[in-house]
Amino acid sequence: MSEIVHIKPPAEAESFEYKDLRQGEFWRHVPAYREVGEATFLDHLWQQKHAVKTPEELLGTIESLAPPEFIADAKAGFRLAPMAVRVSPYAISLIDWNAPYDDPIRRQFIPVASTLLPDHPRLTLDSLHEQDDSPVPGLVHRYVDKALFLPLNTCPVYCRFCTRSYAIGPDTENVDKVALAKTPKQWEDAFAYIAQRPELEDIVISGGDTYQLAPKNIEFIGNALLDIPHVRRMRFATKGPAIMPMKIVTHVEWLDALASIVDRGRKLGKDVVLHTHFNSAQEITWITERAMRMLFERGIFVRNQSVLIRGVNDTPERMRMLVKRLGHINVHPYYVYMHDMVKGVEELRTTIGTATEIEKFVRGSTAGFNSPTFVCDAPGGGGKRDVHSYEYYDRENGIAVYAAPSVKPGKAFLYFDPIDRLSADAQARWVVPELQEQMIHEAVRKAGIGDEQLVLA
Ligand SMILES: *Cc1c(COP(=O)(O)O)cnc(C)c1O
Ligand code: SF4
Repeated sequence: MSEIVHIKPPAEAESFEYKDLRQGEFWRHVPAYREVGEATFLDHLWQQKHAVKTPEELLGTIESLAPPEFIADAKAGFRLAPMAVRVSPYAISLIDWNAPYDDPIRRQFIPVASTLLPDHPRLTLDSLHEQDDSPVPGLVHRYVDKALFLPLNTCPVYCRFCTRSYAIGPDTENVDKVALAKTPKQWEDAFAYIAQRPELEDIVISGGDTYQLAPKNIEFIGNALLDIPHVRRMRFATKGPAIMPMKIVTHVEWLDALASIVDRGRKLGKDVVLHTHFNSAQEITWITERAMRMLFERGIFVRNQSVLIRGVNDTPERMRMLVKRLGHINVHPYYVYMHDMVKGVEELRTTIGTATEIEKFVRGSTAGFNSPTFVCDAPGGGGKRDVHSYEYYDRENGIAVYAAPSVKPGKAFLYFDPIDRLSADAQARWVVPELQEQMIHEAVRKAGIGDEQLVLA
């Protein structure tokens, strides 16, 4: 009698790559950082001061590392971009300057003119219609029990794909920015609104970016919100750990301020966490690991929200690597967003079909609580929807229709795939305005949500 034994083959060596974090003084290959020692590179003030904001500064930093065509291309790209440019030395030093066009970090922060694609005809600057759901400046109250507080409009870096390019950063040649709440007086107006609305239990403090808040303002905002009895949950949102992890390591007062709010919240039975925004495994180095370890030791829970970006994380393998590496440094992958329909960055968007395929691949490759939900924040203010939950998806023409029964019942919300990813026939249809209307109405009809109660971007 033979017994059947099922032996799982051992995992292959490559499957442990997520643990191989970049080590050592990796920044020294960049000409401007050749003489920079560890203590200086870890200094958050040095990082801030040496952020690259112009093509001239970029050239002065990388010198001949990148091909000259690339520099000329970036110069033109800076001029056309809807977002101002600001890149930390940390991010600059992680870019593979031998192949800058394909580099996931370069693609997020440094625009080039040659790869620009025309915008989708249905695209607007504030695609999430945040301004429509804003009862006081700097507060977005869209969902019943949670609100988004935007206390400032600067970030330690500027992402090309920013959802809030309507408001974030200095004005650019192409966009005059909307003012968010920026002064403590305006913050008080937001707190007063929150205090009057007992249903608001959950406040996201974003921006801009909470890295830019001085320690005393982290405490001021944190304590003001903790003092409101019905506020039960708070999240401080920052891109910081992904592009300037050294701030957590060396800006002691900032970390202490955050920890004091987390600790006070815990004593009050309130949940205060940090939300961050890593998009590629390359952003995670030994410095990140050290920073996340410090947060972990202080009992600060960290969740991650990524954006699905073409050429950054839009393959199953790259996304799995990111997710596994985040788990490795005790950061919980929470969401992967469809790229919002923002102007001037069409080359960075991808399709709903791609998102659903990547999701299927990622789920099952690690713990369920470390498996992100892939969401589409549908243009028009429907809020986040599970990408798989479309009522109808016209794959051929790239139109997905979502419903949001608890946010805006009876309405249809649409996401449009980037046109260059569609068949030649479909691309030709999108050129004709009457056909656009026809395709859209047909998709909404098939979704069967309501009679054309359509919210268009
Ligand atoms: C994303 C978002 C929130 C928080 O939503 P969660 O799904 O709980 O993460 C709150 N308000 C607005 C306007 C948002 O866009
Ligand atoms: S850090 Fe966030 S808010 Fe700031 S530019 Fe990037 S995506 Fe926009």
